[in-house]
Amino acid sequence: MAASTAWRTHRNTCSPCRSGQHCETGAQLFERFARLQDAYLAEQRRKR
Ligand SMILES: [Zn+2]
Repeated sequence: MAASTAWRTHRNTCSPCRSGQHCETGAQLFERFARLQDAYLAEQRRKR
């Protein structure tokens, strides 16, 4: 999942994001990642 990789890569290099206070870039990456994860989890639930 590219969005999660982008988010994790950013978090690893960004101390505010690592400590849970998303910077502007981190907030955007995290939002995209969270949305995709929600969609992914919803898809998994539908399959079961
Ligand atoms: Zn950040």
